[in-house]
This record gives sequence, structure tokens and C-alpha cells, in this order.
Amino acid sequence: MVDYPDHFDVIVIGGGHAGTEAALASARLGAKTLLLTHNIETLGQMSCNPAIGGIGKSHLVREIDALDGAMARATDLGGIQFRVLNARKGPAVRATRAQADRLLYKAAIRQMLENQPNLQIFQQAVDDLVLQGDQVQGVITQSGLKFYAKSVVLTAGTFLAGLIHIGLENYQGGRAGDPPSVRLAQRLRELPFRVDRLKTGTPPRIDARSVDFSKMQAQPGDTPTPVMSFMGKVSDHPAQIDCYITHTNARTHEIIRDNLDRSPMYSGVIEGIGPRYCPSIEDKIHRFADKEQHQVFIEPEGLTTHELYPNGISTSLPFDVQLDLVRSIRGCEQAFITRPGYAIEYDFFNPQDLKPTLETRFIQGLFFAGQINGTTGYEEAGAQGLLAGLNAARQAQERETWSPRRDEAYIGVLVDDLITLGTSEPYRMFTSRAEYRLILREDNADMRLTEKGRELGLVGEERWRYFEQKREAIELESQRLRSTWIHPDSPEAEQIHHKLSSPMQREYALADLIKRPELTYADIADLKGQAVADTAVAEQVEVQFKYAGYIERQREEIEQMRRQENTRIPEGFDYAAVSGLSNELRLKLSAIQPLTLAQASRIQGMTPAALSLLLVYLKKQQ
Ligand code: FAD
Repeated sequence: MVDYPDHFDVIVIGGGHAGTEAALASARLGAKTLLLTHNIETLGQMSCNPAIGGIGKSHLVREIDALDGAMARATDLGGIQFRVLNARKGPAVRATRAQADRLLYKAAIRQMLENQPNLQIFQQAVDDLVLQGDQVQGVITQSGLKFYAKSVVLTAGTFLAGLIHIGLENYQGGRAGDPPSVRLAQRLRELPFRVDRLKTGTPPRIDARSVDFSKMQAQPGDTPTPVMSFMGKVSDHPAQIDCYITHTNARTHEIIRDNLDRSPMYSGVIEGIGPRYCPSIEDKIHRFADKEQHQVFIEPEGLTTHELYPNGISTSLPFDVQLDLVRSIRGCEQAFITRPGYAIEYDFFNPQDLKPTLETRFIQGLFFAGQINGTTGYEEAGAQGLLAGLNAARQAQERETWSPRRDEAYIGVLVDDLITLGTSEPYRMFTSRAEYRLILREDNADMRLTEKGRELGLVGEERWRYFEQKREAIELESQRLRSTWIHPDSPEAEQIHHKLSSPMQREYALADLIKRPELTYADIADLKGQAVADTAVAEQVEVQFKYAGYIERQREEIEQMRRQENTRIPEGFDYAAVSGLSNELRLKLSAIQPLTLAQASRIQGMTPAALSLLLVYLKKQQ
């Protein structure tokens, strides 16, 4: 065993999506940070589909960006097809999604890591933790190097005791081509954490030269091309290309049904539970037996490769069945598979054993982030990584920790859901999980979080200046709309007359006109004076005025909730002392130990009556 001479503030284990955001966040705070990972070449690697964002997920990406994280900027540098989903729906559920070139994305992440002051990267597997009582002190690597730190963030993804399945064959692995973390998994099982198994899967990849795209429907990106980062420019993007859509059919479904006995999932070989919202094709055929076809998105893996990712046919069936099922799909009749699909089972920890900072309840200074907390997805991992890295650094620096509330950020919703409710299946983000959707939009993540991020030390000079300019421009334009009046008999009113469902009866400020559903910012901004050129500023102004009433109502609800939230529950609180609580609730509350009344309110089975019993009891104690 060799002690590494330098001591660190924070060590991050794992260079995936959680680990890279954690390491960058910690280093941005000025903490001396070490990122330890299996392989420097796989930093920021996308294990599954090469895409970032989408419904609920882009909200997380924008929040990471608002806090000066890497994911959105890397997406702008690596994105090869950008779309805004739900573009015709309200702003709360609009979501940006980008297809990414795997290599460009990875290169962008690596460049940011390598150029980050206060951050060192070391390639080696971590096999053990150094503990002193219930305090973490560092880690021990595979070759016996001991690294010391005040805080450690573990982000081992799907690697802990990873078991890869293709048909009824299985072997140990962290993901295809990478080793599993077996020793570390064993060590963690000796600690008091509650461990269980989850499963996820990926489709076979296909050579584009063997596919007939003329039989498929092309799906180009949006014009004008969206950007992911608040600081992103369309000129950051590499060349843009199309994705394609095709479908499974009766023949595909028959092949799958006939071979379900050779599926590790249906023959009982796989124990872990898979992602409900990203099911394997065999799962879809089984669960939705009456559906005649399922969509398959044919997505390019990059600009310099022929590999395609057929999104929608994730499978762990044996290779011969995979080949048959792929070739039964329109346009894929001659398809050559470059990599077989597979499923992977891995250890995850019950996130109810975590604090809102993502520090574990049992080991001080040890933080968990990403897939190991029961989530699925790069975005969910990145968001947790940033939060864990921030808090690991702040704790090491003896500064106050932070975690956002549910009404401040989707990151807050994510963490609160995990630590309060736990999860028995891979957890992914949806807009429906947030109760304050109109306030937590993807378009205003910077307005919600950048100032806080600056205060915490996360946000650098460049973003801060950019943000301040944008905020000022929004304020100026809002003022202009409030103070610019249009008389009903004026030539300006004449210009919009044909669009109005009812005529103007009096003089209106532009700020009032924009509230009419039939008018947009573009319709009114040029009537007197000049519209702002920055579309992000225009969007903010439009949404703020149009939805002002709803936004105000949500703010009031939040205020009311916050008053309750302020009621803290002491750690180790004895629920047996609260008379009137059911035994079931008593057990649940004792196990979860919520820190606030609001957190208690979200525990499954909690009733308003039980909450008021708790509230009354706590008030009496004060
Ligand atoms: P990872 O990205 O897995 O990164 C873990 C990192 O830790 C790696 O760099 C690894 O080398 C390193 N590491 C692990 N152990 C050690 C150790 N002991 N020492 C040093 N370094 C270590 N997500 C979806 O949203 N939808 C899907 O359909 C989907 N399908 C998937 C299919 C497969 C087969 C796989 C493997 C993943 C899939 N995912 C899917 C999940 C997605 O890849 C993860 O959610 C995301 O990558 C999690 O990020 P992470 O940072 O937690 O872990």
C-alpha cells in the first residue's frame, strides 16, 4: 500500500455523467479535486443512446447549465440534430432534445475537464474506501494506492457488480467493453447501505451502409436550430443531419414472442427491475400485446461513423433473434449488426439513505450520485453529480451546504423524490413530477438558478456577465412594453386589427396586448419602437407577461407551502410520541426520518390529518 503524498479536498470516483459534473463543480468552488476513473478515454461516455435532453430531462440539463455545468455546452458542441419537443404546447412542457455525435460530445467533456483549474484526473479503478469510524478519509485503488480527501463522491454508474446479459449467456462487465467494479461493490455491501439490483438495456447497433433509408421517413432537426446552453450559439454546432423513423410489424412481434423463453428477462435469469419508461422491445410486445407496431427512431451515432442507434428496440434476446428481429423491420431487411444489444444488471443503493445534499446518512463525507441512486439517464446523473460535487466541496471547505427546493428546480424535485420516496425501478424525470411546472421551465432555468450559483461559487465570470446582461435586457424590454401605449384609433392598432378576436375598446399598453392569446411578442414588439434581437430575451418577456396570472398563483401556493416547510423535524424524532398516528405511518416516518414537514407530506400514505397531528405536536415542542 502506498500513500499518495498530496491530500485532496474532494475525490470523485467515476468519470461518467455524474462524476464529470461532480468533479467540475467541486473544482469550480476552488476545492482541490481528484477525479479517479477506470479509463481516461471513456470520460463523458454515453453508455446508451447518443442523445441529450427531451421531456423533463432538458429541464435538468438547463439547470446544470444555469449553474455553469458542462452538459449543455458539450451538447451544443456535439449535437447533430436539435429539436424542440412539445413546441406547440405551453412553455412549461417544452423540451429541447439533441442527437449527439458520441465522439464530439466526449471530446468536449474531456477538454473541459482537462482545462479546469483545481482538478486532477487519475486513471485507476477504486477498490475500497478508507474509513475512520463513520467518517470517510479517502480511497484505495486497484494497485494499492491510497488517496486521502475530506469528502468522497461515488458515481460508479452501472458498474457495481455489473452483469451483462445477451440471451441466456451472461458475464461480468460495467457496460459493453468495460470492466465491472466487483471489489468495490463487495466492500459497499459490508457497509450499512440498503443495496438492491436494477437492470437496463440497449439495442443492437446497425451499419448505415446496410440500411435502405428510402423506405423510412426522414426527420430533420428544427429550423432555426435550437441551442441547449444559455450561452450556446448555433455556430457552435457541427454539421446537422437527419434522423429517420420506421416501425416494427407483425413479423417482428412474432419473432420476439416465439423466442421469449430464450430471453433472460422472461426466463427469470435477470432479477433486477428495468426502466418502465424505456422498456425493452420484448417488454413492449409482452405488455402491449394488442399493438400492431412500435416506432423505431433510426439515429446516427455521429458524423464520422456509419453506426446507427435504433431507438426503441433495446433487447437482451440472443444474437440470432436480434438479427431476425432487426431484419424484419422496414428498411433494415439487409441490416448488418455492428454490436449486439444487451441488458445489464447492477447494484444500486436505496436513496432514502441519503441526505438532501446527497451525502450518505451512515458515512460522513461520503456522497452518492447518478445511476447508483436508482436513477436512469445522463441528465438525472449529471444533475445529481453537480449537486453532490458542490456539497462535497462546501463541506470540505467547512461552508454551508445547499440543495434546491422543489419549487426552485427540477434538481430539487429529483433529489426530494429519491430521498423521500425511494425507488424500486429506474427513476427518470418527467415534467409531471413537478408540482410547480409553470415556474420551473427550461427557458428560465438561468433566471431561477444562476444568481444562487454565483453566490455558491459555481458560476464563473463569463457566465455571470452574460447572465447579468440578459437579465438587464429583459428588465428594459419589460419596462418598454409596460410604458408603450397603443390607442385604438392609431395606425399601430390598425396593423394588428385583423388578428384580434375582439376589437380594442380603449388604449392598451403593449404589456397588456401581449396577454391576448391571438398575439405574440413578434406581433406587438415592433408596433412602436423596436423588438429586441435576442430571441431568448424576447421569449422570457413573452412568457412572463402571457402567463403572469398563473405564475402569480403558483408563487402564492409556494409561499403557503414554504411557511409549512419552515417547520423542521428534529433528527431522530420519536414518532411514537405523536398520538393519533397510525402504526404504518409511524414506521414509515421513523424509517425515512424526514427533515421538514413538507418532506413528510410527500411520503406515500401521508394524510392531511396525520400532517396536522405532526404540525400541532411540533409547534407544542417549540
Ligand atoms: P456511468 O455513465 O455509468 O459512469 C460510471 C463511471 O464510473 C464510468 O466512467 C466508470 O468507468 C467509472 N467507474 C465505475 N466504477 C469505478 C471504480 N471502482 N473506480 C473508478 N471508476 C469507476 N439511460 C437512459 O436514460 N435510458 C436508457 O435506455 C439507458 N439504457 C442503458 C443501457 C445500458 C446497457 C447502459 C450501460 C446504460 C443505460 N442507460 C440508459 C443509463 C445511462 O447510461 C446512465 O444513466 C448514465 O450513464 C449514468 O451516469 P453515471 O455517471 O451515473 O454512470
